[in-house]
Amino acid sequence: MADDYYQILGVSRTASADEVKKAFRKLARQYHPDVNPGNKAAEEKFKQLNQAFEVLSDEKKRKLYDEFGEEASKIGFDEKKAAQYRAYRNARSAGGGMPFGGGGGGGAGVDFDLGDLFGDIFNRAGGAGGGAGFDVGEIFGRAAGGGRAPSAATPGEDITATLTLSFSEALTGIERNISLQRPGRCQRCQGSGEVGTPTTCGTCGGTGKVRRSGGILGMAGGTCPTCRGTGRTAPPCSSCGGDGVMDETARLTVKLPAGVQTGSKVRLSGQGASGARGGPSGDLYIETIVSEHPLVRREGDDLYMDLPVTVTEAMLGAEVRVPTFQGEVTVKVPPGSQSGRRMRLKGRGAPSLKGGPVGDLYLTLQVKVPEHPSAEARQAAEALARAYQTDVRGSLLL
Ligand SMILES: [Zn+2]
Ligand SMILES: [Zn+2]
Repeated sequence: MADDYYQILGVSRTASADEVKKAFRKLARQYHPDVNPGNKAAEEKFKQLNQAFEVLSDEKKRKLYDEFGEEASKIGFDEKKAAQYRAYRNARSAGGGMPFGGGGGGGAGVDFDLGDLFGDIFNRAGGAGGGAGFDVGEIFGRAAGGGRAPSAATPGEDITATLTLSFSEALTGIERNISLQRPGRCQRCQGSGEVGTPTTCGTCGGTGKVRRSGGILGMAGGTCPTCRGTGRTAPPCSSCGGDGVMDETARLTVKLPAGVQTGSKVRLSGQGASGARGGPSGDLYIETIVSEHPLVRREGDDLYMDLPVTVTEAMLGAEVRVPTFQGEVTVKVPPGSQSGRRMRLKGRGAPSLKGGPVGDLYLTLQVKVPEHPSAEARQAAEALARAYQTDVRGSLLL
């Protein structure tokens, strides 16, 4: 890589946006062509300053630059693929797996050659030996046509699994251990698809370099895509047949956030099928099925339930205790409440999966009469009957 953007601006890698801006302004004034007429060196420096500032002043560009260097700002750079590669690389280093590009030779190291990132713009040559490790060409969009060579690392498929949980578990969120069958990384070859003694690469004849017949970037010559520049390739792994993938039973702890519903999908990044020949794993989607509740109905994030009250509570008003999924609350039943009266308890519904406000709980009053009234209760009821000023059915079918 040419001059480091941070060095050009004379700031540290941890410099704040403000510091970057200040440094740029100061240097830009110093090297501005207007104050250095005819000075080629100053002109070049001024150009570099602008280039560096353009990247480091943009949070997104700076992040990509920090990770992938100057190549990140070049034509054909595919941010999505880069992220995929990053996830893959992190998973690899976390798991202590084989180092990147370590097929056969083993000496390729974890760092990847940025020149290689453009490798797949040119057709991959030959598949016999099989390039190991992640296909860094994938980080960039495929600029030139041509099918994927059989030896290329391939990202794994996404997998969907269903999980049934109870109504209240869906409201509170749960953690559950699951096990599932999935195409996993071959233990024998660590997913590279290769084992054994490496031999001279058939594509480049052992030089590690291939001639490139042009290409949009006009780069001359480059690293051999088959052996990744090591000049050697290893025979395919006999356990997995060379694709680096074997079925496995994975045991995972799944955390489901509060608020899931039937049909909700929770994504577990990188827990899908392993990619072939060291390609990044797909994602695992857990699709939830939520059991019905006998008394509570859910619509979106709102909950609906009946609230039984006595005749006395409905008539004279009362404060009643109501259990909710967030604990018990006291609800004021206004005097003179009729059966069917609806009351809303704000924020006592289901949590929003999308990060919105918690839903509401709607209560529908249901007046319960005593099923076996005593003589005294009968007398009271008869007294009550005289309290109606009008015929309760008087307005029916008018
Ligand atoms: Zn294998
Ligand atoms: Zn080669």
